[in-house]
Amino acid sequence: MARLTQQQLNKISKTFEERTPDDLLRWAKDIFGDRASAISAMQQSGSVMCHMISRLKLDIPVLFVDTGVMFQETLDTRDRMNSEYGLNVRTLHPELTMQEQTEQLGVLYLTVEGQEECCHKRKVEPLLKAKGEFDALIGSLRRADGGRRGVCPILAIDLEMNTVRINPMANFTDEQLAAYLEEHDVIVNPLHKQGFSTIGCNRCTTPVLSHEVKRAGRWRHLGTAAAYCGINPTDIGDGSEDAIDLPQDLIDRILGQKTDFMI
Ligand code: SF4
Repeated sequence: MARLTQQQLNKISKTFEERTPDDLLRWAKDIFGDRASAISAMQQSGSVMCHMISRLKLDIPVLFVDTGVMFQETLDTRDRMNSEYGLNVRTLHPELTMQEQTEQLGVLYLTVEGQEECCHKRKVEPLLKAKGEFDALIGSLRRADGGRRGVCPILAIDLEMNTVRINPMANFTDEQLAAYLEEHDVIVNPLHKQGFSTIGCNRCTTPVLSHEVKRAGRWRHLGTAAAYCGINPTDIGDGSEDAIDLPQDLIDRILGQKTDFMI
């Protein structure tokens, strides 16, 4: 094993700025093969990413974390991704049901500290069950969503999962997203048309008003203190000092330092 740092990734990430999501998804499959997985919460950006994976026939599995308190519309969207796009969506679950958690720990999501603990138990820990299976996790973060996402890199280190995070849609604008949704008639979580600009757990997500920022409906009851759940590391830190362990030959391929061909 060898070390791959965020600084090394930044150099290659900068050269990816002009590349399309299709290109970057193909790159991910080419470099990581079966060690790449996507991750989606079944919101509209994730639906577009899932559609791209299906359209390009990349055979990349999709991880979905079901916190046990998802909206039924979100679960239905996941099921449609499986059946209509032929995707392999794998659902990860927390250890405890929300009822068991509440009996043991109280209603965590009603305080800022409790929200962090709840999100860690119900989102981050389930994802960690897949640790070791993948070297790359492909997400659908977009800079157009603003906030911390406004500066999300195309390639990032995920220290906890020991993977590279790939955001092929980082530069996909709202207009491009809308055009793609319409052109391909993409399956979308119906809650988006009911005023939800982003969609998480049913305990902590509300619709937003037209003058509000997109994430105003997340943890509204906690004010602006809690804006992200922590399942995406770049939402909660810049990771500039982070490094992960990967095989040297894989690092060489990621950084374009070696060509895989036989003479
Ligand atoms: S969004 Fe709310 S209910 Fe869902 S895991 Fe986080 S704190 Fe818990």
